Amino acid sequence: MRERKYFIETFGCQMNEHDSEVIAGIMEGAGYSAATSIDEADIILFNTCCVRESAEQRILGRISRAGALKKRRPELVIGVGGCMVQYPEGRQRIKTRCPYVDFTFDTTALERLPEILAHHGIPVGCLVGEAIQPKRKSSLCAFVTITYGCDNFCSYCIVPYVRGPQKSRRPEEVIDEVRRLGERGYKEVTLLGQNVNAYGRDFNPTSAGKDWDFGDLLLELDKVPGIERIRYTTSHPRDFQERFIEITARSKKVCEHFHLPVQAGSNKVLRLMNRGYTKEGYLRLVEKIRELIPSASVTTDLIVGFPGEDDRDFEDTMDLVEKVRFDAAFTFMYSPRSGTAAATLPDQVALDVKKKRLERLIRVQNEIAKQINEAQKGKVLEVLVEGPSERDPKMLSGRTRTNKMVHFPGPENLTGHLVNVLITDAPGHTLRGEMTNRATI
Ligand code: SF4
Repeated sequence: MRERKYFIETFGCQMNEHDSEVIAGIMEGAGYSAATSIDEADIILFNTCCVRESAEQRILGRISRAGALKKRRPELVIGVGGCMVQYPEGRQRIKTRCPYVDFTFDTTALERLPEILAHHGIPVGCLVGEAIQPKRKSSLCAFVTITYGCDNFCSYCIVPYVRGPQKSRRPEEVIDEVRRLGERGYKEVTLLGQNVNAYGRDFNPTSAGKDWDFGDLLLELDKVPGIERIRYTTSHPRDFQERFIEITARSKKVCEHFHLPVQAGSNKVLRLMNRGYTKEGYLRLVEKIRELIPSASVTTDLIVGFPGEDDRDFEDTMDLVEKVRFDAAFTFMYSPRSGTAAATLPDQVALDVKKKRLERLIRVQNEIAKQINEAQKGKVLEVLVEGPSERDPKMLSGRTRTNKMVHFPGPENLTGHLVNVLITDAPGHTLRGEMTNRATI
């Protein structure tokens, strides 16, 4: 009998990427194997994102492509899950634009997916009700979800409406998962959540045994054998306690990379965004990081052209960027997201103004990042080798503890090892170097 194949197309953030690893685990448990393209798949599953309306349009286009395939092969099964189907307007859009979709599924309740598949005639055998094992893409670095949902209601963001209130996973469950990953040879874990710094806030203290917070979790995970590096995303500056910096400074495994999305440098705009911190508070946090961990990298997300942002507000953002000197920044132009509070705010900024501001921000930030990367030359940095470089197979690629990508010549069998690399060049956004010695085996 021909092997039945599945294909998963994922959009959006690392949370979605990890949800897709869980979906892949379910499909493999059901006896399916991964297809290399949608053309050879018997079942196509879309894991969608709804953070930007432009992303939704792209997703609808991709689903339509699968719809065209289904016209030729009516037995093809199409399922759509993720953020877009988890709020009424998104669900409706899929229903009207893509009526050939066989089923939708909720990624906040993936344990129900086998049941849904079975309901649509897809044999899942004994999988129903069993614990799901994600099929992770990497055998070195693993995502581990620690919180689901979000309580913050930043005014531009649809996530709390789509993913519901924050729910933290029990610490013993997280620690157990990380311990098993360490036993299986994983070297790095990335803890995932919309706001990982608020981990544990939703616990009823008596049910969790004690008041666990994010710092407690880091301290416990730091003890797990085999795991060499601990990363986490996403942080929220309002909930990022100085104690987390102290723990990072003391810890061997928690990486000295702080991704702290600031979004804007104007206190007025931060208030309109409902972010709950000020420019001054943010600068104090960065100062503390640099005081305790001078080698730390600090990265961020920035939105320009938020409703009400005038020239002075934008200058405040530029001032913050120049004061902090971020290692890298993800920069976005604000676009209204229907269903969010900010979409109805007055004083929406004109597109040409937004474009000009974004260009200037990118130009300045790129120059800062270039200077920071140049300053790495001559340093010896610990790199976790991820494998041969995609562009040049004679080169290896890996990341520093500060999350900078390094390329250097070396044999493939160093994959999975920590090596020391002398940085010799800093072209573009990456670093180049030469291996000096192996840090650990
Ligand atoms: S913290 Fe704010 S931006 Fe992040 S998911 Fe929650 S509401 Fe959205």
